[in-house]
Amino acid sequence: MSIKTLFRDRTFTHFSSENDPTYTIDLGEKVMVETHDCYGGRITDERTLRTNLDLTGKINQATGPIYINGVRKGDVLCIEVGEITLNDYGVMVMMPGLGPLGSQIGNTTTKILRINENIIHFSETIRIPVQPMVGVIGVAPTKGSIQNETPGDHGGNLDTKEITTGSKVYLPVRHDGALLGLGDMHAAMGDGELDGTGVEVAGAVQLTVTKAENWKIESPVVETSNSYLILCSGEGYESTIERALLMTVQHIQRTMALDFEDAYRLLSATCDLKISQIVNPLITVKVSIPKTLVPQLF
Ligand code: CA
Ligand code: CA
Repeated sequence: MSIKTLFRDRTFTHFSSENDPTYTIDLGEKVMVETHDCYGGRITDERTLRTNLDLTGKINQATGPIYINGVRKGDVLCIEVGEITLNDYGVMVMMPGLGPLGSQIGNTTTKILRINENIIHFSETIRIPVQPMVGVIGVAPTKGSIQNETPGDHGGNLDTKEITTGSKVYLPVRHDGALLGLGDMHAAMGDGELDGTGVEVAGAVQLTVTKAENWKIESPVVETSNSYLILCSGEGYESTIERALLMTVQHIQRTMALDFEDAYRLLSATCDLKISQIVNPLITVKVSIPKTLVPQLF
């Protein structure tokens, strides 16, 4: 049986409860979602420079919004990420000011990277294994409108490399139907997204959305085969890390029935603090709780 496809011709650029849904799916229904690259497919050759394009209101388009039948405000979505297929090329732009070392960049250039058989051809001799990931994934936020470039408690531009095949993404639902959207896939990216871009690529991802019964979370959580990642986005490193650690300690306290001090000790003894990305309007950090400590978060 063929899977229902949500095509990339219906997209949005701001997560908002005001957006009209363009697709409707059912809980438990497996769907395939096509996505643009973050430039909307406007860069296809190395003569096209990022600085030549007016991408105002067009960057990081997300496919959707997807209304999920049976999902209500207050629920938690569980998005199971299935097979990912990628286009046969990725894009890496470069221009003065890009990323933390942007002041050292002399020239504005575009690099097109051919992709085949799970290899990214950076040059004739340099090859990178494909590690696909979904950069933007989120739902309508509690209030207002949040541009797709910005991550937050609603998801959005999380740029977290563990959001890939085999993982589950949990998001708190703030409006009936959730209004899910996703896009901005990368063929590869290291923790941090250190120059400001991944290997930007269009593609398609299979998803199955269910409700995480009895879950209570205030920001995104990603489950991998061996850990739970508590994600937190914010303005500064100190305050963002502090909030991520506090949410993690509270999860450990609740699941293991411990006082704060012992949960804090276990955090320090077993959990890893990692960086998702440092280049979006807000940074995103992640605290990894090993399943050997907490096999079930809820
Ligand atoms: Ca991104
Ligand atoms: Ca991107």
